[in-house]
Amino acid sequence: MLKNIHPLAAWYTPEIKDRNARILQRPKALTISNLHKTFEHKGKKINVLNSIDFTAYKREFVCVVGPSGCGKSTLARLIAGLETHEVGAIHIDDDLVDGPGPDRGMVFQSYSLFPWMTVKQNVMFGLTESGMSRNAAEAEAFQWIDLVGLEKFANAYPHQLSGGMKQRVAIIRALANQPKILLMDEPFAALDPQNRLKMQRYLLEIWQNIDITIFFITHDLDEAIYLADRILILEANPGRVQETLSVPLPRPRKEETLLSPEFLATKEYLEKLVHPPTTEVDMEDKLSMVRMVSVNSEVPDIF
Ligand code: ADP
Ligand code: MG
Repeated sequence: MLKNIHPLAAWYTPEIKDRNARILQRPKALTISNLHKTFEHKGKKINVLNSIDFTAYKREFVCVVGPSGCGKSTLARLIAGLETHEVGAIHIDDDLVDGPGPDRGMVFQSYSLFPWMTVKQNVMFGLTESGMSRNAAEAEAFQWIDLVGLEKFANAYPHQLSGGMKQRVAIIRALANQPKILLMDEPFAALDPQNRLKMQRYLLEIWQNIDITIFFITHDLDEAIYLADRILILEANPGRVQETLSVPLPRPRKEETLLSPEFLATKEYLEKLVHPPTTEVDMEDKLSMVRMVSVNSEVPDIF
């Protein structure tokens, strides 16, 4: 009997297969095991994440995609130790996550810089907090500021920076603390397409030069394919792993990558998984929900 052939199988060249195989042989950086998360809402329990199993390997770039509300941000917050879960475990290397810690850096969509501190002070903050001398912290901060080309803005305040600049500072501020993993939740979603692409390039360049594993959430499929080694695809209600896809593109990624046939094939494949066309059956389901609403006159939260 014919085995099921993956629709992207033809794009996995021997080099790409070899690279992917080597990533999976590296030590584990993040291990999520049988993770369940339930929220209580108006007295009802909502199962947001259901039995999530996933491993990211050292220096891997993982992107997470999935429909809105499937639990992507919740997953990032759980890894960050900002939420608690009922069942399962999260490990960074071999350490069990049971609260926030310096081994995880976070960058959110909304700018999380301290508005009353300059760029330099923002980057130095975590360093002096962890006991580094002011001089050493300042020298370290300057290196990071140089790396993202913001030397001229070292003494500027966040409100004097563009959105892209603010996110560059947010990234280096997180990285200066030398986390093992960088958690990014839609960090470029508020930027215009041109700046977004610029930031993606910056991030790839930084990632290539330092020892960091990146767990990057996005709803932009182009962004996920351009950045990731592997894409974790979640589905909703409850959030669970639909597929883990190794991206069939060589590195380094270039802008031409975005126009290559393998890129477009991957995008088409992901589109079908993440935004399946609404079928008549779906419509029928929705209609019955509407009927249910009018009968029970209680609006369910799913819309
Ligand atoms: P995503 O980031 O994929 O859009 P989220 O993780 O933000 O999804 O949310 C997943 C689901 O969990 C949503 O239905 C959301 O309403 C619910 N949710 C998130 N945070 C809370 C909370 N603190 N209390 C109750 N429900 C929540
Ligand atoms: Mg979210």
